[in-house]
This record gives sequence, C-alpha cells and structure tokens, in this order.
Amino acid sequence: MINIAIDGPAGAGKSSIAKAAAKKTGFIYVDTGALYRAAALYYIENKLDKNGLIEKLPEISVELKYENGEQQVFLNGRNVSGDIRTPEVSMGASEVSAIPEVRDFLFGLQKKIARENDIIMDGRDIGTVVLPDADLKIYLTASAEERANRRFKEMTDKSVSYEQVLEGIKKRDFNDMNRKTSPLKKADDAVLLDTTEMTIDEVIDTLTGMIEKVKAK
Ligand code: C5P
Repeated sequence: MINIAIDGPAGAGKSSIAKAAAKKTGFIYVDTGALYRAAALYYIENKLDKNGLIEKLPEISVELKYENGEQQVFLNGRNVSGDIRTPEVSMGASEVSAIPEVRDFLFGLQKKIARENDIIMDGRDIGTVVLPDADLKIYLTASAEERANRRFKEMTDKSVSYEQVLEGIKKRDFNDMNRKTSPLKKADDAVLLDTTEMTIDEVIDTLTGMIEKVKAK
C-alpha cells in the first residue's frame, strides 16, 4: 500500500488539497482531524472534563466510512460529519487532542486504514508519529494571516470577524505546536510546501505530480 502523509497547521488548505489530489490519483483521503473532532463533540455534548473523557473512552466508538468517495465520521453509530464543523468543536478538538489517552485511542484506527488502503492522510502528527515510514511526507503551511484570510473568505456566517478568525488560528497553532504529546512539527524527511504565495490549483498540481512519481516507483 502507498501512504502519503500531509501535516501542517490549521487552515493551510490540507483537506481541500489532499481531497483533490486523492481524486486525481485514485487514493483514499483520510482526514484525521475529523477523529479528534468526533472525540471533542462527545466531550462537549456530555459536558465532560479531561478525566471524564478518559474514563468514557471505552464507551466511545469512532468510525470512518466512505460514501461516494466522501469521508463520513460516525460517533457511536451517529453520522456527525456535519456536527463536527463548528468553531466550538474546532477549539474542543485542539483541547482533547493534547490528551495522550485520546491520541492512543485514535492511533490504531489510523494505522489500520493506512495498512489496508492507498491513502493520503492529513493531520498534525502523521509524518512524525502515525506513519513514520510513509512513502511521501509533505508539510503544508502558509502564513497565519493568509490562512485566516482563506478561512474568512470561505465562511458564510460573517458574525465572526477576520481578527477573530486570525486569533483562533494563532491559538490553535500555539496549542498544536506546544503540546507535550505528538506536537505539530515538520518531520525531518518531509517536503516543505509554503503555499502563502501559491494558488490552490498550483498546490494541487505540485502534490499530484509528487504522488504520481511515488506511484511510478
Ligand atoms: O485538521 P482539523 O482542523 O480538523 O483538526 C482539528 C484539531 O485536531 C487540530 O487543531 C488538532 O489539535 C487536532 N489534530 C491532531 N492530530 C491530527 C489531526 C488533528 O492533534 N492528526
């Protein structure tokens, strides 16, 4: 199986780029952030604290399924793919992802999917921890201002200002890069792709080209 790892900070465009490249190359796109988001949704809905969540882990089931090539996330049998896309869940995911027990809990599922499929997997620790032997590792980034700009443009609900989006991105960067367990960082053997000055199509073409090379090996 061919495994491609893509890591980088929030809003770098990982998911849209990986999704498009997966379509072009015939790989399955695995968005691991959705797993942490599902755990965060459980944490928020059940009004748990950190220890409460750790205690409840045996009662949680998180599954990924694919419908028409689109990843769907199930939390205890319920499709939560839409419910996990709120700013509250984004911040909650950043919080619960710092808990080592939560990371361990989601680790096996990610490894299993990678063992069984040709995948492009995106997250924060894919190249460093989950798939250290990936066939290709990319670290996708852009300046915080550009990432906030892209996020803000995408948002239909403009009750949140650009400054608030930027602040949220900086806060998540800080959490993700400074946690003790599996912090966000570039793997030594990852290719750095800074997309601040690139269009999305340029990034997709660059990535697709790299994947095709790996496939041809
Ligand atoms: O990628 P996304 O923004 O959906 O991820 C939500 C949160 O989940 C991130 O801010 C990060 O804290 C966490 N995460 C992680 N490791 C991953 C993927 C996501 O810690 N592999």
